Amino acid sequence: MSAKPDFYDVLGVERTAGPDEIRKAYRDLARRHHPDVSREPDATERFQQINEAYEVLRDDEKRATYDRFGHDGPGSPFGAGFDDFGGIGDVFDAFFGGGRRSRPGAAQPGTDARIQVELEFLEGVFGVETDVDYQRLEPCGTCAGNGAAPGTRPSTCGPCRGTGQVQRAQRSIFGQFVNVTTCDTCGGAGQVVESKCPTCTGVGLERASVKRTVRVPAGLQAGTELRLTGEGNHGPRGGSPGDLYIGIDVKPHPVLERDGDNILSNVVINVAEAALGASLEVETADGLTSVKIPPGIQAGTPIRLRGKGAPRLRGSGRGDHFLFVHVATPTKLNRKQRDLLDQLRETLPGGSDSGGRSFVEKIRAAFR
Ligand SMILES: [Zn+2]
Ligand SMILES: [Zn+2]
Repeated sequence: MSAKPDFYDVLGVERTAGPDEIRKAYRDLARRHHPDVSREPDATERFQQINEAYEVLRDDEKRATYDRFGHDGPGSPFGAGFDDFGGIGDVFDAFFGGGRRSRPGAAQPGTDARIQVELEFLEGVFGVETDVDYQRLEPCGTCAGNGAAPGTRPSTCGPCRGTGQVQRAQRSIFGQFVNVTTCDTCGGAGQVVESKCPTCTGVGLERASVKRTVRVPAGLQAGTELRLTGEGNHGPRGGSPGDLYIGIDVKPHPVLERDGDNILSNVVINVAEAALGASLEVETADGLTSVKIPPGIQAGTPIRLRGKGAPRLRGSGRGDHFLFVHVATPTKLNRKQRDLLDQLRETLPGGSDSGGRSFVEKIRAAFR
C-alpha cells in the first residue's frame, strides 16, 4: 500500500495557489498525461491522480477539508458522526492525528496514544515498575464496536457492494476515462449503519480508562519515550489498536543532578578542610557515602566517585559521580579565629597574579 501523493504535489502548485493557477496546472498536466497521448507506462494512474487532485482542490470546501486533514479527511469512513461526538475530547485528533491510511473496505487501524509519566530522580536512575492510568478508545460496549444500534446490524453498502470503492466513468474534453474513488455512501468502509448506536453515534468506539504496569529500565534519560505495542487507541469497527507512547519526565533531586550516565553534586568545605583534607559523608545515588577530600584541594576541583553514577542503558556498568568541591570563605569570625588567620596571613605566601592563568587552566582541565 503506497501512500497517496499530496494533491498539491500532484498538480505541482503551492499550497497558496489560487483557483486560476490550479486550473491552469490541471489543464497542462491533463493534456500531457492523458492516456491517449502519453507513452508513459503509468499514464492512466497518473491521469487519475491528476483528476482526483483537481476534483478536491477546485472545490473550496473540499480543499479546506483536505488542507486540514489531508487524505484522511474527505471520504474517511468516520467523517459523519463527528458533529455529535464532541463529548469525547480528543477523539477527533485520535482519528486524524496518526497519519495512517487504510485500504478501502478494511478496518481502519487505531492511532497511537501518548501519556507522560513523571519519575522520582532515583527511579530514573535505577529503573522502576510503575502503574500508569490512561484513557484510550476501545470498541463500544453497547454495539460491540460495529456502530449499529442494539438489535440492528450494519449492512453491506449498496453503491460499492461492500468494496468501499466506486468506479465512475467520466467524460472530459479528452474522452472518457474511468475514475476509481472512495465510495461516498460508506466512506470506504464497505458497510453502512442505518440506525446508529446511541452510545458511540455509530463510530463504534468509546473512551475507556486503562491501567497498565510499565517497567522503566535503569539508566533511562528524561525525555525518552517508551512504547507499548498495541496498547494505543483501537480502530473503528474492529481496527487493530495503535501503540502507547510513554514520555518520561524525571523530577529534580534536591542535591543530585544527572549528566548522561554521570551524576553531579556539589559539596562546600571550609578553608581549613581545603588545606588539611577532610572526611565527609555525601549523598549519592546509593545513599550516604564516605568521601576523603585530599589535603590542598583547590576550589572547583571535582572528585570522581567511580561507579556511583547511573547504570548504562546500553552496555554494562555504571557511570561516575562527580563531586564538585567548593571552599567557603568564613565571614563571621570570633576573636580566636581571627587571631589564627592573622598568623596564617603572615606565614603563608600572599596573593599575586603571577601564575594565575596556569592555575585557572589547571582547574578547567580537571573538569574535562
Ligand atoms: Zn456503539
Ligand atoms: Zn460503499
